[in-house]
Amino acid sequence: MEDCIFCRIIKGEIPCSKVYENEHVLAFLDLNPAAPGHTLVVPKKHAATLLELEPGTGDALLQAMRRIGHAQLQVAGAEGFNCLQNNFPASGQEVMHLHWHVIPRRAGDRLIDPWKQTKYASMDQMNAMAEKLGSTIGR
Ligand code: 5GP
Ligand code: ZN
Repeated sequence: MEDCIFCRIIKGEIPCSKVYENEHVLAFLDLNPAAPGHTLVVPKKHAATLLELEPGTGDALLQAMRRIGHAQLQVAGAEGFNCLQNNFPASGQEVMHLHWHVIPRRAGDRLIDPWKQTKYASMDQMNAMAEKLGSTIGR
């Protein structure tokens, strides 16, 4: 897509600090890292969100994240790492080209606040939600 910043990075029109590349995937450092080594992993074929991901590309993305996480543990001072992915602006997505954040973590760094936990009013309500989601997927 012409006006997509990550497509332009993939085409080499905008520079990036490349970490890893294969046929389907490019990984490069985030310009505004949560921690040094924070890497973005993107499919080379434009997809705005996970809903548009071309079937068959998921494994390449996952394997790239595994490699990057492993490298962060080895050389970026990480003791753990998060793989995070936002879909649609309501979730915090700013760049509308599907991407995963691979973020190096250290114990106690508090880089990412945990989400607020809630409770279902009843087990019936919880089971009704599972049924609703499950039957929609099954359609
Ligand atoms: P989102 O909020 O969409 O999940 O994350 C977008 C990420 O892309 C942000 O963390 C932001 O720092 C990063 N970003 C935006 N523009 C560029 C860019 O031109 N180059 C690089 N390397 N990262 C970018
Ligand atoms: Zn794009």
